[in-house]
Amino acid sequence: MAPRVIVLGAGITGLSSADCVQRACPQAHVQLVSEDFSPKTTGDGSAGFWEPYLMTDSAAQMVKRVSAVTFKHLTSLAYSPLAGVVKTQMLSGYHLCAGVPKEVPSYADTFENYRDLSKKEMERFPDAEWGTFSTTVSVDVTPYMAWLMRSFKAQGGIVRRQKVTTIEEIASECDILINCSATSSRYLFNDDGVFPVRGQVWKVRAPWLKHFYVWDNHGKGHTYILPGVDYVTVGGTAQVGDWNRQPDSQDAARIWENAVEFLPALRQATPLKSWAGLRPSRESPRLECQPMKVLGRTIKVIHNYGHGGSGVTMHWGCALEVARMVLEALGTEENEAKQIVSRL
Ligand SMILES: Cc1cc2nc3c(=O)[nH]c(=O)nc-3n(C[C@H](O)[C@H](O)[C@H](O)COP(=O)(O)OP(=O)(O)OC[C@H]3O[C@@H](n4cnc5c(N)ncnc54)[C@H](O)[C@@H]3O)c2cc1C
Repeated sequence: MAPRVIVLGAGITGLSSADCVQRACPQAHVQLVSEDFSPKTTGDGSAGFWEPYLMTDSAAQMVKRVSAVTFKHLTSLAYSPLAGVVKTQMLSGYHLCAGVPKEVPSYADTFENYRDLSKKEMERFPDAEWGTFSTTVSVDVTPYMAWLMRSFKAQGGIVRRQKVTTIEEIASECDILINCSATSSRYLFNDDGVFPVRGQVWKVRAPWLKHFYVWDNHGKGHTYILPGVDYVTVGGTAQVGDWNRQPDSQDAARIWENAVEFLPALRQATPLKSWAGLRPSRESPRLECQPMKVLGRTIKVIHNYGHGGSGVTMHWGCALEVARMVLEALGTEENEAKQIVSRL
């Protein structure tokens, strides 16, 4: 019988995992089960900007590894004929700081052209004490997820809409369960370590902005202006433990005031919408395989959740690791599994 795999959760984490698993194991019967799908997932409202954000030091090495894999994947899409379909682009810009110690992030070498700003460049940002310039990659997540979904279905992947209230509801249908349920892992898998960090942003049209700006003004939090292909994301908030997915008018006003004060070039932008979502945060993202006894039967559960403010940045590297774990769980030798995954 074909191995039965269920991927729970169709955010960018679950969808990319499902696609990679189905392509790595064409003999498997892979079902993507989720309450919501794009365009109603967290990634759809995100900026789709590649940079690890709001992650703890304890996760640094793992985050760097999977993020670098994702950078390579998105960059190759940005240079391919698919760039206009998945809406991926290379994007350069500025990190500016005041009141925070100068440090080089552990992932700096993944950026292209990471360097300190020159004296002349700093003159444009009189409130900043120091700054860096770098080139990264961004993706408009909704068209990208539509492309991933077409790929998954084309390989024979099955999609099912269902809100799962207990694991027992789906465990009897699978041999391997891939958990990409983000903050719902709190109640589905009793993980008190996962919590929301609410983020609110504006989506605006301002096609004259060609660079990104991240302004870390100590005491006022982060202001970020991140151009995608079709819109600019302006943020933001980071409200720990706040479950409210509705945009708040006071947050919206404050985000806009801070952003325009920092970058007056934004003032004539056309507002498209205000949006809020929950970063599924955790001390360290969970990416591991665990046997679990459910209804008297042992199944393998592969956890892939808790990526906080970096889910887009990490998704592809994590999805490839999930595909490797599935191959190994199905008896493929470690080296062969690595080879199969390297071809995806
Ligand atoms: C304002 C904001 C801006 C951001 N910007 C960036 C950025 O620029 N770059 C970056 O890397 N990251 C960014 N992030 C973070 C990123 O969006 C998230 O880390 C990522 O989208 C999480 O994806 P996910 O698939 O793990 O979770 P989700 O998108 O939340 O998906 C979870 C899925 O599980 C399903 N599900 C949950 N519970 C159940 C259940 N009981 N039954 C069935 N299905 C269930 C849901 O329906 C959903 O499909 C941002 C986040 C916010 C809020």
